[in-house]
Amino acid sequence: MGAGGLDVLDGLDRLRLLDGPTPIQRLHRLERQLGPALGGTRLYVKRDDQMALGGGGNKLRKLEFLLGAAVREGCDTFITTGGVQSNHARLSAAASAYAGLACELVLARVVARDDPSYRRNGNILLDGLFGATVHELDGTADTLAFAHERARALKAEGRSAYVVGVGGSSPLGSLGYADCAREITAQEAALSERFEKIVVANGSAGSHAGLAAGFAAMGQDPARVRSFTVLAPEQDARRTTTVLAQDILALLGAQAEIRPDSIDVSGAERGEGYGIPTAAMLATVRLMARTEGLLLDPVYSGKAFAGFLSDACNGAYGEGKAALFVMTGGVPGLFAYQPAFETDAF
Ligand SMILES: *Cc1c(COP(=O)(O)O)cnc(C)c1O
Repeated sequence: MGAGGLDVLDGLDRLRLLDGPTPIQRLHRLERQLGPALGGTRLYVKRDDQMALGGGGNKLRKLEFLLGAAVREGCDTFITTGGVQSNHARLSAAASAYAGLACELVLARVVARDDPSYRRNGNILLDGLFGATVHELDGTADTLAFAHERARALKAEGRSAYVVGVGGSSPLGSLGYADCAREITAQEAALSERFEKIVVANGSAGSHAGLAAGFAAMGQDPARVRSFTVLAPEQDARRTTTVLAQDILALLGAQAEIRPDSIDVSGAERGEGYGIPTAAMLATVRLMARTEGLLLDPVYSGKAFAGFLSDACNGAYGEGKAALFVMTGGVPGLFAYQPAFETDAF
Protein backbone atom coordinates (compact mmCIF):
# COMPACT_ATOMS: atom_id res chain seq x y z
CA MET A 1 0.00 0.00 0.00
CA GLY A 2 3.08 2.27 -0.02
CA ALA A 3 2.50 5.74 1.40
CA GLY A 4 -1.23 5.32 0.69
CA GLY A 5 -2.00 4.72 4.36
CA LEU A 6 -0.82 8.24 5.09
CA ASP A 7 -2.66 10.11 2.34
CA VAL A 8 -5.16 11.22 4.98
CA LEU A 9 -2.46 13.55 6.36
CA ASP A 10 -2.67 15.68 3.24
CA GLY A 11 -6.28 16.61 3.97
CA LEU A 12 -5.72 17.88 7.52
CA ASP A 13 -5.45 21.49 8.69
CA ARG A 14 -1.82 22.33 9.00
CA LEU A 15 0.21 25.45 9.61
CA ARG A 16 3.46 24.98 7.70
CA LEU A 17 6.42 25.64 10.00
CA LEU A 18 9.11 23.59 8.19
CA ASP A 19 10.58 24.65 4.88
CA GLY A 20 10.51 21.11 3.50
CA PRO A 21 12.14 17.76 4.31
CA THR A 22 15.04 18.02 6.78
CA PRO A 23 18.35 16.71 5.40
CA ILE A 24 19.83 13.29 6.12
CA GLN A 25 23.63 13.26 6.33
CA ARG A 26 26.23 10.58 6.87
CA LEU A 27 28.68 10.90 9.77
CA HIS A 28 31.92 10.05 7.95
CA ARG A 29 34.28 11.54 10.52
CA LEU A 30 32.55 9.86 13.45
CA GLU A 31 32.64 6.53 11.57
CA ARG A 32 36.40 6.92 11.12
CA GLN A 33 36.84 7.90 14.75
CA LEU A 34 34.99 4.80 16.01
CA GLY A 35 36.87 2.62 13.54
CA PRO A 36 36.60 -1.20 13.41
CA ALA A 37 34.35 -1.24 16.52
CA LEU A 38 31.52 -0.20 14.19
CA GLY A 39 31.76 -3.36 12.07
CA GLY A 40 31.25 -1.30 8.93
CA THR A 41 27.92 0.16 10.04
CA ARG A 42 27.10 3.39 8.22
CA LEU A 43 25.85 6.10 10.59
CA TYR A 44 23.40 8.74 9.44
CA VAL A 45 21.55 11.58 11.15
CA LYS A 46 18.30 13.21 10.16
CA ARG A 47 18.64 16.91 10.89
CA ASP A 48 15.38 17.66 12.69
CA ASP A 49 17.45 20.20 14.63
CA GLN A 50 17.79 22.17 11.40
CA MET A 51 14.61 24.17 10.98
CA ALA A 52 14.40 27.90 10.47
CA LEU A 53 11.77 28.83 13.06
CA GLY A 54 12.54 29.49 16.72
CA GLY A 55 15.83 27.60 16.80
CA GLY A 56 14.25 24.46 15.39
CA GLY A 57 13.58 21.02 16.83
CA ASN A 58 11.20 18.09 16.74
CA LYS A 59 8.27 19.91 18.35
CA LEU A 60 7.72 21.99 15.22
CA ARG A 61 6.49 18.89 13.37
CA LYS A 62 3.79 18.41 16.01
CA LEU A 63 2.97 22.12 16.16
CA GLU A 64 2.15 22.15 12.44
CA PHE A 65 -0.95 20.05 13.19
CA LEU A 66 -1.71 21.52 16.64
CA LEU A 67 -1.57 25.13 15.47
CA GLY A 68 -3.41 24.12 12.31
CA ALA A 69 -6.29 22.97 14.54
CA ALA A 70 -6.04 26.05 16.80
CA VAL A 71 -6.26 28.40 13.82
CA ARG A 72 -9.14 26.44 12.27
CA GLU A 73 -11.05 26.66 15.55
CA GLY A 74 -10.51 30.43 15.61
CA CYS A 75 -8.49 30.43 18.84
CA ASP A 76 -6.50 33.54 19.77
CA THR A 77 -4.24 31.95 22.40
CA PHE A 78 -2.12 28.80 22.55
CA ILE A 79 -1.48 27.35 26.03
CA THR A 80 0.89 24.49 26.74
CA THR A 81 2.83 22.89 29.60
CA GLY A 82 6.30 21.55 30.30
CA GLY A 83 9.40 21.83 32.45
CA VAL A 84 11.27 25.11 32.94
CA GLN A 85 13.70 24.17 30.14
CA SER A 86 11.07 22.72 27.81
CA ASN A 87 11.98 22.85 24.11
CA HIS A 88 8.31 22.27 23.31
CA ALA A 89 7.39 25.40 25.29
CA ARG A 90 10.02 27.48 23.49
CA LEU A 91 8.92 26.30 20.05
CA SER A 92 5.25 26.78 20.97
CA ALA A 93 6.10 30.39 21.83
CA ALA A 94 7.95 30.91 18.54
CA ALA A 95 5.31 29.20 16.39
CA SER A 96 2.49 31.09 18.14
CA ALA A 97 4.27 34.37 17.41
CA TYR A 98 4.57 33.32 13.76
CA ALA A 99 0.87 32.33 13.68
CA GLY A 100 -0.22 35.59 15.34
CA LEU A 101 -1.55 33.90 18.48
CA ALA A 102 -0.81 34.82 22.10
CA CYS A 103 1.06 32.10 23.98
CA GLU A 104 0.94 31.09 27.65
CA LEU A 105 3.37 28.54 29.06
CA VAL A 106 2.70 26.65 32.29
CA LEU A 107 6.12 25.45 33.38
CA ALA A 108 6.97 23.27 36.38
CA ARG A 109 10.29 23.10 38.21
CA VAL A 110 10.60 19.35 37.60
CA VAL A 111 14.41 19.29 37.75
CA ALA A 112 15.86 20.00 41.21
CA ARG A 113 18.02 22.95 40.18
CA ASP A 114 17.94 26.54 41.26
CA ASP A 115 21.05 28.03 39.63
CA PRO A 116 20.76 31.00 37.26
CA SER A 117 21.68 28.98 34.14
CA TYR A 118 18.72 26.69 34.68
CA ARG A 119 16.23 29.25 35.93
CA ARG A 120 16.96 32.08 33.51
CA ASN A 121 19.08 30.97 30.52
CA GLY A 122 18.47 28.54 27.66
CA ASN A 123 14.89 27.91 26.63
CA ILE A 124 13.27 30.12 29.27
CA LEU A 125 15.24 33.14 28.09
CA LEU A 126 13.88 32.52 24.59
CA ASP A 127 10.29 31.99 25.84
CA GLY A 128 10.37 35.60 27.01
CA LEU A 129 11.92 36.87 23.78
CA PHE A 130 9.13 35.21 21.80
CA GLY A 131 6.64 37.15 23.91
CA ALA A 132 5.08 34.25 25.80
CA THR A 133 3.52 34.68 29.23
CA VAL A 134 5.23 32.22 31.58
CA HIS A 135 3.52 30.76 34.67
CA GLU A 136 6.17 28.99 36.76
CA LEU A 137 4.86 26.35 39.22
CA ASP A 138 6.45 23.86 41.65
CA GLY A 139 7.64 20.51 40.38
CA THR A 140 4.62 18.69 41.81
CA ALA A 141 1.95 21.07 40.45
CA ASP A 142 -0.68 19.85 37.97
CA THR A 143 0.33 22.02 35.02
CA LEU A 144 -2.40 20.75 32.70
CA ALA A 145 -5.12 21.55 35.25
CA PHE A 146 -3.62 25.04 35.60
CA ALA A 147 -3.59 25.41 31.79
CA HIS A 148 -7.29 24.53 31.59
CA GLU A 149 -8.03 27.01 34.40
CA ARG A 150 -6.26 29.73 32.42
CA ALA A 151 -8.30 28.79 29.34
CA ARG A 152 -11.51 29.18 31.38
CA ALA A 153 -10.37 32.56 32.72
CA LEU A 154 -9.58 33.75 29.19
CA LYS A 155 -12.96 32.52 27.96
CA ALA A 156 -14.66 34.65 30.62
CA GLU A 157 -12.88 37.63 29.02
CA GLY A 158 -14.21 36.71 25.59
CA ARG A 159 -10.98 35.10 24.43
CA SER A 160 -10.49 31.57 23.11
CA ALA A 161 -7.56 29.33 24.01
CA TYR A 162 -6.28 26.05 22.56
CA VAL A 163 -4.72 23.85 25.27
CA VAL A 164 -2.03 21.27 24.53
CA GLY A 165 -0.39 18.91 27.04
CA VAL A 166 3.26 18.15 27.62
CA GLY A 167 5.47 17.73 24.56
CA GLY A 168 2.56 18.25 22.16
CA SER A 169 2.23 14.45 22.11
CA SER A 170 -1.49 14.13 21.58
CA PRO A 171 -2.43 11.76 18.74
CA LEU A 172 -3.03 14.84 16.54
CA GLY A 173 0.37 16.40 17.31
CA SER A 174 2.14 13.07 16.87
CA LEU A 175 0.91 12.92 13.27
CA GLY A 176 3.89 15.19 12.57
CA TYR A 177 6.12 12.16 13.12
CA ALA A 178 3.87 9.81 11.16
CA ASP A 179 4.51 12.20 8.28
CA CYS A 180 8.23 12.09 9.10
CA ALA A 181 8.13 8.29 8.53
CA ARG A 182 6.86 9.03 5.02
CA GLU A 183 9.63 11.61 4.56
CA ILE A 184 12.31 9.12 5.67
CA THR A 185 10.95 6.46 3.31
CA ALA A 186 11.19 8.87 0.37
CA GLN A 187 14.73 9.86 1.39
CA GLU A 188 15.81 6.21 1.64
CA ALA A 189 14.74 5.74 -1.97
CA ALA A 190 16.60 8.89 -3.04
CA LEU A 191 19.76 7.83 -1.17
CA SER A 192 19.49 4.16 -2.24
CA GLU A 193 19.94 3.32 1.42
CA ARG A 194 17.93 1.24 3.86
CA PHE A 195 18.08 2.00 7.58
CA GLU A 196 18.01 -1.08 9.82
CA LYS A 197 16.97 1.07 12.74
CA ILE A 198 15.70 4.60 13.17
CA VAL A 199 16.63 5.82 16.64
CA VAL A 200 15.21 8.76 18.60
CA ALA A 201 14.98 10.09 22.15
CA ASN A 202 11.73 9.40 24.03
CA GLY A 203 10.29 12.02 26.38
CA SER A 204 6.54 12.43 25.87
CA ALA A 205 6.59 9.52 23.36
CA GLY A 206 5.05 11.32 20.38
CA SER A 207 8.12 11.14 18.19
CA HIS A 208 8.60 7.39 18.60
CA ALA A 209 4.87 6.63 18.49
CA GLY A 210 4.33 8.83 15.43
CA LEU A 211 7.20 7.23 13.50
CA ALA A 212 6.08 3.70 14.47
CA ALA A 213 2.47 4.41 13.48
CA GLY A 214 3.61 6.04 10.25
CA PHE A 215 5.69 3.03 9.22
CA ALA A 216 2.89 0.64 10.21
CA ALA A 217 0.35 2.63 8.18
CA MET A 218 2.66 2.28 5.14
CA GLY A 219 2.87 -1.49 5.64
CA GLN A 220 6.38 -1.36 7.12
CA ASP A 221 7.61 -2.84 10.39
CA PRO A 222 7.06 -0.42 13.32
CA ALA A 223 9.92 -2.18 15.15
CA ARG A 224 12.30 -0.36 12.80
CA VAL A 225 12.03 2.47 15.32
CA ARG A 226 13.94 2.31 18.61
CA SER A 227 13.92 4.94 21.32
CA PHE A 228 15.86 5.71 24.46
CA THR A 229 13.64 6.99 27.22
CA VAL A 230 14.94 10.02 29.12
CA LEU A 231 11.82 10.57 31.23
CA ALA A 232 9.63 7.58 32.19
CA PRO A 233 11.19 4.28 33.29
CA GLU A 234 11.50 1.75 30.45
CA GLN A 235 8.33 -0.30 31.07
CA ASP A 236 6.15 2.81 31.50
CA ALA A 237 7.63 4.44 28.42
CA ARG A 238 6.98 1.30 26.36
CA ARG A 239 3.37 1.14 27.53
CA THR A 240 2.72 4.85 26.89
CA THR A 241 4.36 4.70 23.45
CA THR A 242 2.37 1.60 22.45
CA VAL A 243 -0.99 3.10 23.44
CA LEU A 244 -0.17 6.40 21.74
CA ALA A 245 0.92 4.62 18.53
CA GLN A 246 -2.37 2.70 18.52
CA ASP A 247 -4.33 5.94 19.01
CA ILE A 248 -2.43 7.56 16.12
CA LEU A 249 -3.27 4.62 13.83
CA ALA A 250 -6.93 4.97 14.82
CA LEU A 251 -6.82 8.70 14.03
CA LEU A 252 -5.28 7.86 10.64
CA GLY A 253 -8.03 5.32 10.04
CA ALA A 254 -5.27 2.84 9.19
CA GLN A 255 -5.96 -0.88 9.12
CA ALA A 256 -2.51 -1.75 10.49
CA GLU A 257 -1.95 -2.97 14.03
CA ILE A 258 0.78 -2.25 16.54
CA ARG A 259 1.57 -4.87 19.15
CA PRO A 260 3.52 -4.06 22.34
CA ASP A 261 6.44 -6.23 21.19
CA SER A 262 7.00 -4.04 18.14
CA ILE A 263 7.58 -0.94 20.27
CA ASP A 264 11.31 -0.98 21.02
CA VAL A 265 12.13 1.29 23.98
CA SER A 266 15.36 1.14 25.99
CA GLY A 267 15.92 2.59 29.44
CA ALA A 268 19.71 2.12 29.22
CA GLU A 269 20.62 5.81 28.93
CA ARG A 270 18.12 7.39 31.32
CA GLY A 271 20.50 7.53 34.28
CA GLU A 272 19.02 8.95 37.47
CA GLY A 273 16.14 10.57 35.66
CA TYR A 274 14.83 13.42 33.56
CA GLY A 275 17.25 16.28 33.08
CA ILE A 276 19.99 14.70 35.22
CA PRO A 277 23.27 14.47 33.28
CA THR A 278 25.03 11.14 32.79
CA ALA A 279 28.73 10.63 32.08
CA ALA A 280 27.81 9.01 28.74
CA MET A 281 25.71 12.03 27.74
CA LEU A 282 28.51 14.50 28.51
CA ALA A 283 31.08 12.40 26.62
CA THR A 284 28.75 11.92 23.64
CA VAL A 285 27.80 15.59 23.29
CA ARG A 286 31.51 16.41 23.28
CA LEU A 287 32.42 13.60 20.83
CA MET A 288 29.79 14.70 18.31
CA ALA A 289 30.81 18.36 18.63
CA ARG A 290 34.49 17.57 18.13
CA THR A 291 34.25 15.06 15.33
CA GLU A 292 31.36 16.44 13.28
CA GLY A 293 30.81 20.00 14.54
CA LEU A 294 27.21 19.05 15.38
CA LEU A 295 25.32 19.89 18.57
CA LEU A 296 23.32 17.38 20.57
CA ASP A 297 21.34 18.50 23.63
CA PRO A 298 21.94 17.48 27.27
CA VAL A 299 18.43 16.21 28.12
CA TYR A 300 17.31 14.18 25.09
CA SER A 301 19.53 13.64 22.08
CA GLY A 302 22.80 13.51 24.06
CA LYS A 303 21.52 10.52 26.03
CA ALA A 304 19.82 8.85 23.06
CA PHE A 305 22.80 9.27 20.76
CA ALA A 306 25.01 7.65 23.43
CA GLY A 307 22.67 4.64 23.18
CA PHE A 308 22.71 4.76 19.37
CA LEU A 309 26.53 4.57 19.32
CA SER A 310 26.68 1.94 22.05
CA ASP A 311 24.27 -0.26 20.03
CA ALA A 312 26.29 0.36 16.85
CA CYS A 313 29.53 -0.70 18.54
CA ASN A 314 27.81 -3.81 19.92
CA GLY A 315 26.84 -4.96 16.43
CA ALA A 316 23.12 -4.24 16.89
CA TYR A 317 22.57 -2.94 13.36
CA GLY A 318 24.56 -5.67 11.62
CA GLU A 319 27.76 -5.87 9.59
CA GLY A 320 27.80 -3.36 6.75
CA LYS A 321 24.30 -2.02 7.49
CA ALA A 322 23.06 1.55 7.94
CA ALA A 323 21.30 3.16 10.90
CA LEU A 324 19.65 6.56 11.27
CA PHE A 325 19.54 8.77 14.35
CA VAL A 326 16.94 11.53 14.44
CA MET A 327 18.59 14.70 15.78
CA THR A 328 15.71 16.42 17.52
CA GLY A 329 17.21 19.81 18.43
CA GLY A 330 17.21 21.21 21.95
CA VAL A 331 20.45 23.15 21.54
CA PRO A 332 19.31 26.02 23.85
CA GLY A 333 19.38 23.43 26.66
CA LEU A 334 23.18 23.40 26.44
CA PHE A 335 23.24 26.91 27.91
CA ALA A 336 21.12 25.77 30.86
CA TYR A 337 23.61 22.92 31.49
CA GLN A 338 26.74 25.07 31.48
CA PRO A 339 27.63 23.97 35.06
CA ALA A 340 27.54 20.26 34.08
CA PHE A 341 29.93 20.79 31.17
CA GLU A 342 32.19 23.01 33.25
CA THR A 343 32.60 20.53 36.12
CA ASP A 344 33.00 17.53 33.83
CA ALA A 345 36.71 16.87 33.19
CA PHE A 346 37.70 17.67 29.60
C1 LIG B 1 10.77 16.70 23.24
C2 LIG B 1 12.09 16.31 22.73
C3 LIG B 1 12.40 14.98 22.42
C4 LIG B 1 11.47 13.85 22.67
O1 LIG B 1 10.34 13.85 21.85
P1 LIG B 1 8.97 13.24 22.41
O2 LIG B 1 8.09 13.27 21.24
O3 LIG B 1 8.54 14.15 23.53
O4 LIG B 1 9.25 11.87 22.91
C5 LIG B 1 13.65 14.70 21.89
N1 LIG B 1 14.56 15.67 21.72
C6 LIG B 1 14.31 16.96 22.03
C7 LIG B 1 15.40 17.94 21.82
C8 LIG B 1 13.07 17.33 22.55
O5 LIG B 1 12.86 18.60 22.85
